[in-house]
Amino acid sequence: MSDKKKYSFKCLEQKCTTRSCHIRPYVNVTIGDISRWTTQGHLQNILNGVALSLPDNEKDTMRLETRRKPLEKDDQQTACFFYHEDSNGCLIRYSRPISCRTYPLEFNGEKFYVSDKNCPGVGEDEVTKEALREAKELAEQEFEERVETVSALPGLYSIIFGQMLQQSAEAMQNLSEEDRKKLDEIMSKDKQEESDE
Ligand code: SF4
Repeated sequence: MSDKKKYSFKCLEQKCTTRSCHIRPYVNVTIGDISRWTTQGHLQNILNGVALSLPDNEKDTMRLETRRKPLEKDDQQTACFFYHEDSNGCLIRYSRPISCRTYPLEFNGEKFYVSDKNCPGVGEDEVTKEALREAKELAEQEFEERVETVSALPGLYSIIFGQMLQQSAEAMQNLSEEDRKKLDEIMSKDKQEESDE
């Protein structure tokens, strides 16, 4: 975005008619968000609404995002887990993800751009020079955190998943003969039920 084409934005908050920030396809969460929630003591309240998304094609990346839920008034549409439909607001506004704080301004490593033309706050208000500088700094920070998260997640996932496999292998080795027999019975019963279906 060039300085000639000034970014102008004012969040309409609960008066928003399109709810575009809440219903965008996914709401990114960064390791920086997790770290802030930990420091602020909010992690336990928020973590339940965060999910790990695994890539479903070669171009996709592993990412953290907020979980989704269907809208009560339109079950064909999903929204962010933290969207509160009755009040048309965010349940964690006090500490929402950085991608929500910078929305709809985004930075892609080269330029700034408006990520969602459906946001009715775009063009609503003149942004002061100081506010524009702060918005750009936040968008740059969001970009850095996003990149850092995308590169760190596969490694973290391997470590955690590897530890879980190791723990379950150790648990299997420590099983008593009696428990092992019980487990074998349960497994063969499950297989029998599957082949009967
Ligand atoms: S975390 Fe809050 S502000 Fe962000 S999309 Fe979800 S409901 Fe909206």
